[in-house]
Amino acid sequence: MAVNNNKLVLLTFAICRLIVTVGLTVVPELLDVGLQGRLSVDTWELEAASVDFGRLSRGEPSEVVHPATAEDVARVVKAAFESPFAVSARGHGHSINGQAMIKEKKGVVIEMGKSDSGEDGSSIRVSEKGMYVDVWGGKLWIDVLSATLEYGLAPMSWTDYLYLSVGGTLSNAGISGQTFNHGPQITNVYELDVVTGKGELVTCSEDRNSELFHAVLGGLGQFGIITRARIALEPAPHRVRWIRVLYSNFARFCKDQEYLISLHGKAARERFDYVEGFVIVDEGLINNWRSSFFSASNPVKITSLNADGGVLYCLEITKNYDQGNADSVDEEIQALLKKLNFIPTSVFTTDLPYVDFLDRVHKAELKLRSKGLWDVPHPWLNLFVPKSRIGDFDKGVFKGILGNKTSGPILIYPMNKNKWDQRSSVVTPEEDVFYLVAFLRSALDTETLEYLTNQNRQILKFCHDIEIKVKQYLPHYTTQQEWMDHFGDKWPQFNARKMQFDPRRILATGQQIFQFHP
Ligand code: FAD
Repeated sequence: MAVNNNKLVLLTFAICRLIVTVGLTVVPELLDVGLQGRLSVDTWELEAASVDFGRLSRGEPSEVVHPATAEDVARVVKAAFESPFAVSARGHGHSINGQAMIKEKKGVVIEMGKSDSGEDGSSIRVSEKGMYVDVWGGKLWIDVLSATLEYGLAPMSWTDYLYLSVGGTLSNAGISGQTFNHGPQITNVYELDVVTGKGELVTCSEDRNSELFHAVLGGLGQFGIITRARIALEPAPHRVRWIRVLYSNFARFCKDQEYLISLHGKAARERFDYVEGFVIVDEGLINNWRSSFFSASNPVKITSLNADGGVLYCLEITKNYDQGNADSVDEEIQALLKKLNFIPTSVFTTDLPYVDFLDRVHKAELKLRSKGLWDVPHPWLNLFVPKSRIGDFDKGVFKGILGNKTSGPILIYPMNKNKWDQRSSVVTPEEDVFYLVAFLRSALDTETLEYLTNQNRQILKFCHDIEIKVKQYLPHYTTQQEWMDHFGDKWPQFNARKMQFDPRRILATGQQIFQFHP
């Protein structure tokens, strides 16, 4: 009897929900497409899709869809193509400037990360023989890592933070300290299933529908929605030696970083596995939220290290190891460190499991969350700076515009352009080596937000004025002219691909690249 009552309650709930959905839906076309997943106009769900990590803008969709399958995604996009209305895939909403939002009155967010289907739960399939993993586009990288580790395998190229979706990072590039050696994440994809802007579900790779494949990688969501990605794997290392050393001289710091990335392609014992770095200008103390490396009980004083112009540079490197090379890892590290020119007393080393290293930023996230400091505005700015001008950037920005208050980490590390496939949609500076400079700052009040936003503008203006040809990573522009300038020579191809794969310009309108006219 109790069971029957429960069933009745559930049925009534489902009917009520359906009535509410039907009553409130702004896109009636979606009611007939035969979704296996769920269509929602729930206030809470609309609100969740209206904000992102940046917390700088809002954009409320009229509906949210939780697809059960790739066919569901195709059904929604097909309806949008025929109607038309705007559709944005949302990975984990970790964009800064509303890139996954819908700003139009009538438009749908497809929540790729929160699929209701059983299929999604088991949608990570590892092929040990093929050394690849097939994953649903909305899966988070942390889940991909957990699944592949069961086979002793792992992807090769990462982002610093793993609570990002596969489709979201592949729509940008996906970079971290492994990029110098393996290329960005988009260089490590064998195959994709993509729903184009016409609602067609297409499998693509280098050899099959290759134009779509290259368009989608780094394509800012403009050409299709990635429902499956086949990602290359390697045997997963067990542990990581994680080392930080300090520099007070920027030229030496860059020379060493550039030397280390020139070792790409060498045998693993002759290079580091990860090369990053960051700039320290804050208040005389090294206090980086991204790790507890320099602990509060043992702070490192910048003044004690003779920082040049109050600024220090920290090189961050790692060496992976397992039983096979546990005995020789120290020797290998020493041989590499010997060639570098850091402050001799400034070597900080830690040793940890591979997973803990990859998941390091999540620990910082939990700490910040516990203090209420995570869900705050993030006026982030990510720039690719050509190698030949990084010294000018240092003088003008790190030792100039920034002052001595940064409000968050500032990363700096170089990459090799030859690891980036020029056929993808991403744009990078023209030189063989370019740096990522990432200002990852938080604003706890409106005054700081204004200050940091203004400072970002000053940095861009400075680069423009002295002709440092930077490219924004995770770019944000609001006019088509700015986008044309961003893409430069690649614009005609980008535009032509848009006309081919999303001719009604319904996809990812939150990027503000193309105007959508209903
Ligand atoms: P969303 O923000 O949800 O979406 C981003 C764009 O991709 C939108 O235009 C959306 O429509 C589109 N999109 C989403 N899913 C799909 C799909 N399946 N198919 C097609 N288009 C899709 N990036 C790095 O490269 N390296 C880092 O180390 C790094 N660290 C980060 C750390 C933090 C704490 C945060 C917040 C971000 C970081 N990022 C990093 C940036 C990150 O790569 C981007 O935010 C990226 O957009 C992924 O986030 P997401 O999965 O939440 O995508």
